[in-house]
Amino acid sequence: MSLRLCCCALLLATARGPVCAAGDAEATPVPVERVAQHVYLLRGAYTSGRQPDGNTVLFTGGAGWIVFDTGRHPEHSERILDFVRASGARVDAIVNSHWHLDHIGGNARIRANQPDVRIYASPAVDLAFATGLKDYRSRLQSRIDDPKSRAADRQAWRREIALIDSAAQLRPDVRIGGTRDRQIAGLRMRFGLEVDAVTGGDVWIYDRRSRVLAAGDLVTLPVPFFDTACAVRWSAALAGLEDLPFERLVPGHGAVLGRHQYTRYRMAFDALLGCAAGSAPASVCADAWIAATGDLYAASDQPRAREMLGSYFSQRLRAPAEQRDRHCPP
Ligand SMILES: [Zn+2]
Repeated sequence: MSLRLCCCALLLATARGPVCAAGDAEATPVPVERVAQHVYLLRGAYTSGRQPDGNTVLFTGGAGWIVFDTGRHPEHSERILDFVRASGARVDAIVNSHWHLDHIGGNARIRANQPDVRIYASPAVDLAFATGLKDYRSRLQSRIDDPKSRAADRQAWRREIALIDSAAQLRPDVRIGGTRDRQIAGLRMRFGLEVDAVTGGDVWIYDRRSRVLAAGDLVTLPVPFFDTACAVRWSAALAGLEDLPFERLVPGHGAVLGRHQYTRYRMAFDALLGCAAGSAPASVCADAWIAATGDLYAASDQPRAREMLGSYFSQRLRAPAEQRDRHCPP
């Protein structure tokens, strides 16, 4: 895989993924979408040659906002703040689905603007600063030090390092250690924690009023992002989400899914793991994935889906057991 075409999921938030060249591409802003009454979505930008932003879901009970994930780039967090300002309210709480920088990167900017905000996340975020993000930082530094690197890429990598170095502003104030109801910002919602699924700790929130489930990277399009995942436990977590009576699910990347679309995604996920465990060529497994899910994202994303699945097959799903299962508990 070339550096320029590096799949954006293998993005640098990972412990061993490649360091993408990402210096000069620009994202096109998209409008904030209404998902349901009192629930809005700011889609994360996902442009080839640029690090992605995860989706942000905004919930309000009237007084203030719960911001579920804050993106990576300053443009994304500024748009969150613009939206909240326009509502005349404030951000009461940030909830981070997991530790990847495309989901926690805007925490510092929002906290600087709204000093009373409380950040909720799993304890896996703390651990990541001592492990995955630390390792990623040192890989970034060696790419910056490489005389063959492009100046524009160096600039982007330095921004990544600055983000990691702002750890004190990114870390949670409140650790989510399990699944239970919580009352935050005047809203009573179900907070869920999946352990060792996409990452060491993946948080979702379910809003009973709107029947919206914000799933973070437990659901990603155009393909599941296996970079830091334990695939088997991830599959079990997806099965568990089916028990929630949601009507709409907001993924970590991609468009809102209806319930039947989610079920199809989940079945395609399990079929993908089954195919990876068999002997069919990776391209056949990718074809099956796209046949099952291709209408859930733009047709123009299909080449990227194939490229990403090709990488995941070689680096994760069909890698030697030690590498394949490195994020699974012993
Ligand atoms: Zn993500």
